[in-house]
Amino acid sequence: MSRLLEAQHINAQYGKVLAVNDVSLVMDQGQVVTVIGANGAGKSTLLNTLMGALPVSGRSQGQIFYRGEDISRMPVEERVAAGLCLVPEKRELFTSMSVQDNLLLGGFRQYRQRVAGWRDTLDQVYQLFPRLLERRDQRAGTLSGGERQMLAVGRAMMSRPTLLMLDEPSLGLAPRVVQEVFRIILRLRETGVSILLVEQNARAALQASDYGYVLEMGEIAMEGSSQQLRSDPKVAQSYLGLG
Ligand code: ATP
Repeated sequence: MSRLLEAQHINAQYGKVLAVNDVSLVMDQGQVVTVIGANGAGKSTLLNTLMGALPVSGRSQGQIFYRGEDISRMPVEERVAAGLCLVPEKRELFTSMSVQDNLLLGGFRQYRQRVAGWRDTLDQVYQLFPRLLERRDQRAGTLSGGERQMLAVGRAMMSRPTLLMLDEPSLGLAPRVVQEVFRIILRLRETGVSILLVEQNARAALQASDYGYVLEMGEIAMEGSSQQLRSDPKVAQSYLGLG
């Protein structure tokens, strides 16, 4: 397996508040990696920093490598072009536009740069989410919570990411829909996409992933294979509701 992402000692802050403190994280190609943590632990901030929406800050000289290349100061658009994609917690769909137009916007770069195959990608997205095909002319704002999540993931897929980062994909969804979201994550992985998942639903996230990190107050408190984390009494007590 080859190294896909390596973040070394990264800090991120809002004004004087340090929200991510000296975080190091690695991911190999093809892996699903989860970051679990309580509200406010810094999970979204970490993803936004990896995506380039927030700068790596401080004197820490933190660095982010993607396929061996230092992307620490690369703008978001270039990171998207390189294969990174983030589905933010607030799905940020264009609610008054149709499902299909939302998807096409996700593939805008390919379309504009005349990269062949965007139609094939659209077909693949519809294969993965037949529900979106059924509703392709419906306005995105009228979709159910689960369908919106499918659309947000589908739109991200249109940029043909190598590394897909999902911020709380199960947030606000009914338990049955949450199960569906995790099934989708496993299906995405079968298509060869590597996934970095941020979740409060630690049990389901660890079940769907290979490796996990526990973020507490901006710092990595623990890491290990998902199996190890699931059987750790401290993780069980704090994050799995057991103990
Ligand atoms: P949640 O699970 O509740 O979404 P999280 O683990 O994703 O939480 P973050 O959203 O990354 O946590 O927030 C980490 C810390 O940074 C929190 O203390 C939060 O209040 C603070 N923070 C987040 N965004 C901003 C901002 N734009 N300005 C100032 N502080 C912020």
